[in-house]
Amino acid sequence: MSDTTSPTLESYRATMIPVFGVPALTVVRGEGSYVWDEDGNRYLDLLGGIAVNVLGHAHPAVAAAVSAQVKELIHVSNFFATTPAVQLAAELTEIVAGPGSDPTQVRVFLANSGTEANEAALKIVKAWGKSHGKKRVLALKQGFHGRSLGALSVTSKAAYRDPFAPLLPDVEWIDPHQPGVLDTIDENVAGLIVEPIQGEAGVRELPGDFLQAARTKTAAVGALLVVDEVQTGMGRTGKWMGHHHAEITPDVVTLAKGLGGGMPIGATLTLTEAAGSVLTAGMHGSTFGANPVCAAAARAVIATLEEEQLLAHAQQLGDSWRKELREVDPGAVVEVRGRGLLIGIDLAHPVVTQAVQVARQMGFIINATGPQTLRLAPALNISREQARSFTQALPQILAQAKGMA
Ligand SMILES: *Cc1c(COP(=O)(O)O)cnc(C)c1O
Repeated sequence: MSDTTSPTLESYRATMIPVFGVPALTVVRGEGSYVWDEDGNRYLDLLGGIAVNVLGHAHPAVAAAVSAQVKELIHVSNFFATTPAVQLAAELTEIVAGPGSDPTQVRVFLANSGTEANEAALKIVKAWGKSHGKKRVLALKQGFHGRSLGALSVTSKAAYRDPFAPLLPDVEWIDPHQPGVLDTIDENVAGLIVEPIQGEAGVRELPGDFLQAARTKTAAVGALLVVDEVQTGMGRTGKWMGHHHAEITPDVVTLAKGLGGGMPIGATLTLTEAAGSVLTAGMHGSTFGANPVCAAAARAVIATLEEEQLLAHAQQLGDSWRKELREVDPGAVVEVRGRGLLIGIDLAHPVVTQAVQVARQMGFIINATGPQTLRLAPALNISREQARSFTQALPQILAQAKGMA
């Protein structure tokens, strides 16, 4: 399998705004953890559409739910309720409320993406701050929350931000690894937004007690704690939500990526009375949000994750896979991080671009999230054998990648 050009890719180059560069492949079909390109080559998809396809491709439960809903009702606007959206909201209150949280306090806003879910969360923080005389908004160094002007304002990467500055005022970054950093949280802080594991930063976990300490400190000064679960939610880390490992109750949780199993849907949930009382009629909205087809897909995702016990599978397979990956040539792999099926692999050499290309030529789809980090975020129903096939190919992938550098 060698990367070739094709009429589709030529046309892509001629027609698309090049924000993603030009892709290496055109994918025409998927089934389970495999996808096929237009030449009929098969790939093991270890990226899962960037942590989106939690049930893999063309899962019958998602396909059936979407097909049935499309024939029933596709869209009706938020002037009306639909049963899939209301049922989904009720199910989300159950899975997002973790140990010690009260599901009856949870309220849901349905949007279409992670960026929009975070946008609603930021509006909650801003409005909360305004009504309580608090201006400061805190975010974490290396954090990623999306590309809209609001979400970008709390995203730290300079290359993403600089062309569009100035962004929202009063945002400050704190380094979760710096001891005592939470001492900066005072009465002037309206909110703090964090990812339980920083996915785009290379699958970087927060220090062990950071989330608990952040919860305690923000609660003490009346600041809202927003946990961005767009990448880490929906069972990705082996529990429904990444923050469930820390057993805290955030004020706001955002979801997207895996939620719809591939259909575009995001959600902003308030878990506390304080956060739930901020947005009132007319303060926020979305034309497509709460779309019944996307909601039906998300309901099928939740039901299937439960029926097929995929949270436990993600946890167990993730643990053993990371262990096996750590045993790959220590001269080539220096660290393996993550939880469940969100895995970061730090290479000894800065050859990630080459590694992604060689992996693709050998039939594996992976991606790079930094100069030396590869990321795996496969379907949560990927098999042990499929995972192992990549582990076995990795030494050769890395040797060839190094040869190309
Ligand atoms: C992907 C991601 C987003 C942005 O989601 P989109 O659906 O691309 O808008 C926000 N936060 C985190 C943590 C993400 O991983």
